[in-house]
Amino acid sequence: MNTLRVSFLDLPAMHRELGPEFDDIWRRVTSSGQFIGGEFVDQFERDWAEYCGTRYCVGVSSGTAALELSLRVLEIGPGDEVIVPANTFIASAAAVASVGATPVFVDVDPATLLVSAQHIEAAITPRTAAVIAVHLYGQPANMDEIRRTATAAGIFVVEDAAQAHGATWRGSRAGSMSDIGCFSFYPGKNLGALGDAGAIVTNDYAIAEKVRSMSNHGRMREDPHRHEMLGGNHRLDGLQAAALSLKLRWLDIWNTKRERVADAYKASLAKFPIELVEIAGPARSSHHLFVMQTDERDRVRKQLASAGISTGIHYPIPCHRQAPFAQQRHSPLPVVERAAERVLSLPMSPGLGEAEVHYVIDALDRALDQLGTGERREP
Ligand SMILES: *Cc1c(COP(=O)(O)O)cnc(C)c1O
Repeated sequence: MNTLRVSFLDLPAMHRELGPEFDDIWRRVTSSGQFIGGEFVDQFERDWAEYCGTRYCVGVSSGTAALELSLRVLEIGPGDEVIVPANTFIASAAAVASVGATPVFVDVDPATLLVSAQHIEAAITPRTAAVIAVHLYGQPANMDEIRRTATAAGIFVVEDAAQAHGATWRGSRAGSMSDIGCFSFYPGKNLGALGDAGAIVTNDYAIAEKVRSMSNHGRMREDPHRHEMLGGNHRLDGLQAAALSLKLRWLDIWNTKRERVADAYKASLAKFPIELVEIAGPARSSHHLFVMQTDERDRVRKQLASAGISTGIHYPIPCHRQAPFAQQRHSPLPVVERAAERVLSLPMSPGLGEAEVHYVIDALDRALDQLGTGERREP
């Protein structure tokens, strides 16, 4: 019976289609000598800004670097508070701490598990400088409300769109709806490089130039020997940029395939005694992760593993429970804490076929039945 193996994300399958083109990139970059910055980075920055519908894009070395540089150019630092949803990858909060500011963790919406204006509003103090709107699992947060709340309070909005390449809110791309949008191109993201990479997008020229300079030791464009500020080395390299420009041509196709997988899961899981993460009406998700919720999470996960199915948990330990933040005061976070015990991410790849999806559904059906929580259906 155990005939199939379903991996959580099948990157090699995505890359197989691109084999000869990867070879071509390798040749072009190695023969150009433009390894850090240069024409391939310039090209990808144009490509990604155009795709996101923003005026500027600056390539950087990772999503974490994008977040840190964003906070630094907004001059957020010691004494400032930055509101962060507790349900996110730790980088969203670590970036705040790394600039010397204090992350203030907030709870999330129970239907979408995303940060909401209501929670942000309740956490705003005179010290609040910004909010990090995390578009988790691929779904944009409610940016109409978040922007309204942030504007009224006079605070910045930084989007963490590391999981939301190509996702939209009312037709606007994730990353394009705030002061700065941050992306990670970690290999496992919807648009992934062949190593670490990231970018910021913005419509503000001054912000873009400052991020560019700070990512490169504070160098000035007009005079590369002059350093008007201190930065660091957070540059994007040419090989990653060239790979990203190539893979960007496939992003919409891959996201559509992910959507089909998500639709197939949703149709089959509707009768199961589990909950799914809801997608809000104005949102179009990039379906980075397909997250279900059940009280029997750990047991279901084990059963799926024994059927050869890899799953993930995003995230089993919420940020405010992680050691570096454990001493920090925060309001009660009941939704995040409950979700941490119940969320389970099913396999999600653009190349996931119908047979594999059905295999996962059948295994899930058996697992729930054996646990006595499944509804027995007619044979
Ligand atoms: C992946 C991720 C990051 C960090 O990106 P890196 O490129 O790994 O530094 C930040 N935030 C979220 C929500 C992520 O998923």
